[in-house]
Amino acid sequence: MLLHFSPAKPLISPPILRRNSPVFLISPPRSLRIRAIDAAQIFDYETQLKSEYRKSSALKIAVLGFGNFGQFLSKTLIRHGHDLITHSRSDYSDAANSIGARFFDNPHDLCEQHPDVVLLCTSILSTESVLRSFPFQRLRRSTLFVDVLSVKEFPKALFLKYLPKEFDILCTHPMFGPESGKHSWSGLPFVYDKVRIGDTASRHERCEKFLRVFENEGCKMVEMSCEKHDYYAAGSQFVTHTMGRVLEKYGVESSPINTKGYETLLDLVENTSSDSFELFYGLFMYNPNALEELERLDMAFESVKKELFGRLHQQYRKQMFGGEVQSPKKTEQKLLNDGGVVSMKDTSSSS
Ligand code: NAP
Repeated sequence: MLLHFSPAKPLISPPILRRNSPVFLISPPRSLRIRAIDAAQIFDYETQLKSEYRKSSALKIAVLGFGNFGQFLSKTLIRHGHDLITHSRSDYSDAANSIGARFFDNPHDLCEQHPDVVLLCTSILSTESVLRSFPFQRLRRSTLFVDVLSVKEFPKALFLKYLPKEFDILCTHPMFGPESGKHSWSGLPFVYDKVRIGDTASRHERCEKFLRVFENEGCKMVEMSCEKHDYYAAGSQFVTHTMGRVLEKYGVESSPINTKGYETLLDLVENTSSDSFELFYGLFMYNPNALEELERLDMAFESVKKELFGRLHQQYRKQMFGGEVQSPKKTEQKLLNDGGVVSMKDTSSSS
């Protein structure tokens, strides 16, 4: 590309030079002006090589389920140079075009593109029906299937049940979403379990290439079995979503005197309120540990209430009957993971 500059108004102002400066002696004659820059040209061999290399190392990734989370992930996958093709129940052609992906409204057409990776981003609840009707026979036999569901034992079992045994399986959970990961993924946990990766170097390399996207974004990479993930996630993720929804129903609102703690609650509501109820219900239905956690939460709430009302009751009795009233012996209780209760210590003397 040639850039013509007016000789009267040079774009780069000449340096201020002293008369005896050595540079002055070799400064260009007045008529010499910049007429071209070294921009990347289509015939630039180096640029062409780079783009060939990018193409050869790019994965063709088929995103199945192009809703909230599918779109969020796709933007980053494209930024890392991968070729994205997508399919969803609803028509997302415009959304796909806007980020440089291609949308196929028919799953058969999507599969005939022979993607290296199929990335399942559908809701937890629809997973089985999606897999049951998916035209696997149109894919290459070595395809890598990846899921991002927020529960892990469930998709692992379905993959092992429905996928042809030649397919590779990688179960993952990016533990962040469009809200918590909107600025950066740096330091955010990415859990994965290489459930079944074929015994060839190219299959391992393909899996690593996929994981590298998250690694290069700065995620905290955690290799963990699906079973362990669900055990930990019930006590953290499910409880977080539940509290977010409870507080949303309660109606927390910003005020001019927000404390740091209150700001945390507002952030929690903001982080969880944009997720669909279907997602939340999926966390409850398909994490075998979620029901127990919900019961523990309920018991903990009751126990805190009891403690408050117990103290109030004592004060009331004091006022009614005067003098020292023998308070009943109190013991601090802790709820166990198995739903049981253990008495910790006598706390009546400390109050
Ligand atoms: P979601 O409500 O869990 O799932 C929405 C997606 O599921 C859409 O692509 C939707 O397709 C598809 N879907 C729903 N019902 C379907 C059906 N009967 N048949 C076919 N497709 C169906 O919301 P999401 O936030 O996008 O989550 C997608 C997945 O990512 C979930 O498995 C979730 O656990 C996981 N995930 C989400 C987050 C997050 O922060 N949101 C974080 C980590 C992992 P259409 O839109 O075309 O109807």
